[in-house]
Amino acid sequence: MVLRVHLSVCLFVIVLMFSGMLGLERRGTKDPDLEETVQLTATEFEEMVELTATELEESAWDDTSRTSLLERDILNVHTLGERVSDWDDQRVAYAAKNVNSGSRHFDGKRRVNVMLVSGSQPMPCDKPKGDFFILKTLKNKVDYCSLHSIDIFYNMAQLNTRMQKFWSKLPLLHTLMLSHPDVEWFWWMDSDAFFTDMKFELPIEKYANYNMVVHGWYKDVYEDKNWVGLNTGSFLIRNCQWSLDLLDAWAPYGQSGKAQVAAGRLFANYLHGRLAFEGDDQSALVYLLISQRQKWAEKTFLESTYFLHGYWVILVDDFEKMMERYHPGLGDERWPFVTHFVGCKPCHGNYGSYPMDRCAKQMERAFNFADNQVLQTYGYVHPNLSTHSVEVDTPKATNVGREKVRG
Ligand code: UDP
Ligand code: MN
Repeated sequence: MVLRVHLSVCLFVIVLMFSGMLGLERRGTKDPDLEETVQLTATEFEEMVELTATELEESAWDDTSRTSLLERDILNVHTLGERVSDWDDQRVAYAAKNVNSGSRHFDGKRRVNVMLVSGSQPMPCDKPKGDFFILKTLKNKVDYCSLHSIDIFYNMAQLNTRMQKFWSKLPLLHTLMLSHPDVEWFWWMDSDAFFTDMKFELPIEKYANYNMVVHGWYKDVYEDKNWVGLNTGSFLIRNCQWSLDLLDAWAPYGQSGKAQVAAGRLFANYLHGRLAFEGDDQSALVYLLISQRQKWAEKTFLESTYFLHGYWVILVDDFEKMMERYHPGLGDERWPFVTHFVGCKPCHGNYGSYPMDRCAKQMERAFNFADNQVLQTYGYVHPNLSTHSVEVDTPKATNVGREKVRG
């Protein structure tokens, strides 16, 4: 038994090491809470994994056994506070009472109210340079929102101790939804994502029949069951009952401790390319879309016609070519809307999947690429994408601008 425990723990450590080396450990940060969790649950984990693996083989996609498995391994605690079940009615009542609050309401002919939501950890980054990059991505988001009259909420508080780090977006969105019945869409964007097309706007009318919009591909999610078939670094979620229900269904996989470890193992068994690291929000969403397809898939739009999320590795080397050939406002590979530094950990230096030097160099370039679109309207430009210095330039008033008038 002792030997078995050791073997399992070793295996677990090896899996973690490999996942980091292969660049697949999306969440590879040194976190004291997580380390404690792993130590505390080493024995539990071994028992749990054995049970889970056997049952998973037997149960496949059978609903009953999967549910019982989750009930045991993933604590059946409601993590997001009191359940709300009449939110759509409450929002209708709110809209009726607040008819005079101008165009900041709902769909139809009025301007759809969108709030950008982002955040970062409550503590300083490991290195001062991390905080510098966080500030740059925040400035970039403020610029985009101010150009397009979008509200922005940036969170640095730990709202729910059971849902930490990348899971913190769930309690945050839940809280914001209930506090802002006037906001129709919440738009989560990771702190390590930059707007790189300052002119492009969300084709929001296209999503009239959907409650969630995520960058991703149908085949990768539903046929290949690939955990990177979509990306939860930038997504839209409508303020409605469906979304509250989705957050309720999504949250249990992210509870710190045993549940999150079990969730990681479950995702590793079900999803393609996913190793057994702690449960993450992206895998959980892919898992829910596949396993409870009838509930969630119909109202979830997988967007790939422009970069609602764009993987930095395939974009950043072409910025100069883009500037030669194209112009802002396209949003796709010709001029990407969002460039997301997946696998870089700006706040944690070398714990990411890519060397920090490479990340830092390219984040600076992405920032300047976007910043040029802002500065050019004021008559300045970065002479090249690697420098923070600027030169005087002919103002280009048409580049970006307040095309939509607020209010
Ligand atoms: N985040 C947060 N609070 C935290 C840690 C992370 O709001 O304490 C946000 C932050 O915006 C980050 C996102 O959650 O970009 C995803 O977290 P992850 O650890 O996956 O970071 P990334 O992979 O984006 O570097
Ligand atoms: Mn990210």
